[in-house]
Amino acid sequence: MERIWLKNYDSKVPADIDPDRYSSIVDIFEQSVEKYSSNVSYINMGKSITFAELDGLSRDFAAYLQNSGLKKGDAVAIMMPNLIQYPVALFGILRAGMTVVNVNPLYTARELQHQLSDSNTKAIVIVENFACTLADVIKDTAVETVLLTSLGDMLSPVKKILTNFVVKHIKKMVPAFDLPNAGMFLTALKEGHSQSYQRPEVTGEDLAFLQYTGGTTGVSKGAMLTHRNIVANLEQTSTILETVVDPGKELVVTALPLYHIFALQANCLTFIKFGCPNLLITNPRDMPSFVAELAKYPVTVITGVNTLFNGLLNTPGFSDVDFRKIKFSLGGGAAVQRPVAERWKKTTGHVLLEGYGLTECCPVVTVNPPELKAYKGSIGMPVPSTDIKLVDEEGNEVAMGEAGEMLVKGPQVMKGYLNRPEATEEMIVDGWLATGDIATYDQDGYFYIVDRKKDMILVSGFNVFPNEIEEVAAMHEDVVEAAAVGVPHEVSGEIVKLVAVRKNPELSEQDLIDHCRIHLTGYKVPKKVEFTDELPKSNVGKILRRELRDK
Ligand code: AMP
Repeated sequence: MERIWLKNYDSKVPADIDPDRYSSIVDIFEQSVEKYSSNVSYINMGKSITFAELDGLSRDFAAYLQNSGLKKGDAVAIMMPNLIQYPVALFGILRAGMTVVNVNPLYTARELQHQLSDSNTKAIVIVENFACTLADVIKDTAVETVLLTSLGDMLSPVKKILTNFVVKHIKKMVPAFDLPNAGMFLTALKEGHSQSYQRPEVTGEDLAFLQYTGGTTGVSKGAMLTHRNIVANLEQTSTILETVVDPGKELVVTALPLYHIFALQANCLTFIKFGCPNLLITNPRDMPSFVAELAKYPVTVITGVNTLFNGLLNTPGFSDVDFRKIKFSLGGGAAVQRPVAERWKKTTGHVLLEGYGLTECCPVVTVNPPELKAYKGSIGMPVPSTDIKLVDEEGNEVAMGEAGEMLVKGPQVMKGYLNRPEATEEMIVDGWLATGDIATYDQDGYFYIVDRKKDMILVSGFNVFPNEIEEVAAMHEDVVEAAAVGVPHEVSGEIVKLVAVRKNPELSEQDLIDHCRIHLTGYKVPKKVEFTDELPKSNVGKILRRELRDK
């Protein structure tokens, strides 16, 4: 398809970028440290660190990793909410030439064990509140080094003592965690400080991240994102953002978790490249505190999912925030709903720009031009060096205005899924990645998501795959079989509904929900359960989830 969209971006946006402009993320990081050394890089709970400090701490962590028996290319996991420790660990791992495995801190033991084993993770930095989950599964993984950190570890001495005291003694969140070789992250940094660091040669083909996702099939797989993939996506998005961003002068608020590719790329890495700080929000569910942070800091950029923007709009005090400094607000990860976008514009005076992407593309594929005057329900246009094709069931390109599955080609498309050549071959054919999303485009090159081919359910921007939920439901001895579908929900976009056939009529909806809660992290747990005598099936016995969904 001809790239008709380019004329709609600001003329300064090039048609193509150079994905090899930097050989790795480390090069971009080092360039920013040199250029912006005294600028603040991260702010969290009132504490800030400069680029120079982040440089020192991440170097110390890289030295520690290199001297603890780990090799270049080893997988090192991070399991924590948004804290300053996150970027310290992140850049430390990357600077040691190792691969980052981002883990949702709320994972259950089952989910965590799968991810750590599948990725062959050797070391993990984990916030101690969640270490009990690790204790349950560590013997079934290859993890040898555990580094614990407390929420307040990077704060000023008084705040650190207070925060860690509150977490430990008042919230009583410390688990009974007894692992002989667990150490403290802060001690590792201290040790690393006096150890030698050898900058490894990191090339574009080396893996930067193993980012876990269900893809179109649902089995959680590690998307292999190389340094080149990430550098390319940073170049693709920053050529567009450069038309509005002042390097060194912005402040981006990061409320989405850094373990998800959206915040990792759009906030953490992009604004490191621009020499600007991320204001890290540790608990975005605490909306009043989030709003207080927005009132306190001169935030210029805000990114989020529909649920987050909706939550802010419904929080008392939000409309009193001074929005004059905001340059742009970016929504993605799931559809931005028109009423939310319109309320956002009315309250803040700014258009909620929508973008679209997926983990397998690092993630950005399309974005609306920053100069867009009003929300138009479109996911925007492809970023530079990105080709999109919409195809029908037979693989033929559809005409303008017609719906087809979106295929993407560009330097941001992942290398493949770790140790899953078949899943990779199914997903990427001749360089074209099948997104499982159904879209249309108009004469100006704007794309619109109209449906989803994959059975994925999107809860507040988080992917939920029916087969995982169904597998967990089937683990219950009183369940014959079950199907999970998404049903619309005004706050989270969709919620999970389970339709189950039970063996025992005494099995209640709540029993099944409680069972799921043991094995699934919160957003995946069905909010509704319906019992039925039989599930609709195709001739070959495949559950017809769409039929259940449409009901
Ligand atoms: P993830 O891999 O977690 O980033 O999820 C990617 C999926 O989220 C895509 O394949 C889409 O189904 C969905 N998605 C992302 N952005 C949007 C958007 N702006 N509108 C609708 N769906 C979206």
